[in-house]
Amino acid sequence: MKLAARVGQLSPSLTLTIDAKAKAMKAEGQDVCNFSVGEPDFPTPDHICKATEAALEAGKTKYGPVAGEPKLRQAIAQKLQKDNNLCYAAENIIVTNGGKHSLYNLMMALINPGDEVIIPAPYWVSYPEMVKLAAGIPVIVQTDDVNQFKITPEQLQQAITPKTRLFVLNSPSNPTGVVYTPDEIRALAQVVVDNDIYVVSDEIYEKLLYDGATHLSIGAVSPEAFDRTIVSSGFAKAYSMTGWRIGYLAGPVDLIKACSTIQGHSTSNVCTFAQYGAIAGLEGPQDCIQEMLSAFAERRQFMLDAINSIPGLSCVKPDGAFYLMPNIQKTGMNSLDFCQALLEEYQVVMVPGIAFGADGFVRISYAADLKTIEKGMERLDKFVRSRI
Ligand code: GLU
Repeated sequence: MKLAARVGQLSPSLTLTIDAKAKAMKAEGQDVCNFSVGEPDFPTPDHICKATEAALEAGKTKYGPVAGEPKLRQAIAQKLQKDNNLCYAAENIIVTNGGKHSLYNLMMALINPGDEVIIPAPYWVSYPEMVKLAAGIPVIVQTDDVNQFKITPEQLQQAITPKTRLFVLNSPSNPTGVVYTPDEIRALAQVVVDNDIYVVSDEIYEKLLYDGATHLSIGAVSPEAFDRTIVSSGFAKAYSMTGWRIGYLAGPVDLIKACSTIQGHSTSNVCTFAQYGAIAGLEGPQDCIQEMLSAFAERRQFMLDAINSIPGLSCVKPDGAFYLMPNIQKTGMNSLDFCQALLEEYQVVMVPGIAFGADGFVRISYAADLKTIEKGMERLDKFVRSRI
């Protein structure tokens, strides 16, 4: 079949493809250590499930408003005000089918053919592809582990042209886990304001911070930065709700209305009763996040020590999310060969850095239990020692 030209430019999502392969191997009975997809291994907190069951009982099973249940939009606006110092009302919020969908809506609503979107690499696998789907041009700015994988204000300034429309900022970052300090965020905000471009701040990992790191939303830096900021987030990571598909976008009312029109012709509203679970997530007790966080903190330290004790590997210590991104260049392998051989010989699953625009690295998720991490790190050690 002759497919549309836009499909030819797209690569499949490697994070999802690899995770599906790992899960299939596990289902076949293979002893797989899966560090691929970014999915907490905790169940969704009970009070969130209970609220959803109650919504089902109450008949919340019909179409709802495209932009989301009013109560959820209101709760998200309050959360952004309370946690992030961002002054949004319910009309500034659209509830979407996951964080990914909020970004997709944004690209469709904001990007014209030929518009440039600046994306620091390593980047989350779907950013450039979404820009391409909107006929925009992803402008990739390379960062490396020597600089903690952070784009500098100078690099951002250099990448800006008259065609630049949007800058994609993701802190804490997927795939590197690094967190920009408040001063670094302020410096990037200055460049955004000086050049009058927009920034989308993907804050889905904002609750997953370690060692006293803090999260500053770029929109909270100044009124001028706020006017140019769009916030993307969701419930998947902080509340272990990956399969629920509930995300949101916050921004100027006209943009949110445009996203709503697009969503009205594509997916309509997010599953109505699931939105009641999300309301309970925001309004209920938050200690479930702390519990996950202390488990992640322990795993992060264990994994980091294990990786840095393997000759030939080195890894920066990131302060957020649940990913590590070790440098594999000394092994002489590219990231695809590395991950493929590791999978075939040791049944350990990682995502090749090439998926994130960083071929000298691999991404390891530590959203897996400690036993699996211990076993996986032993196997990784043997594998790398056999190659160098
Ligand atoms: N964001 C997660 C990851 O990077 C989920 C998978 C995806 O949607 O790409 O692993």
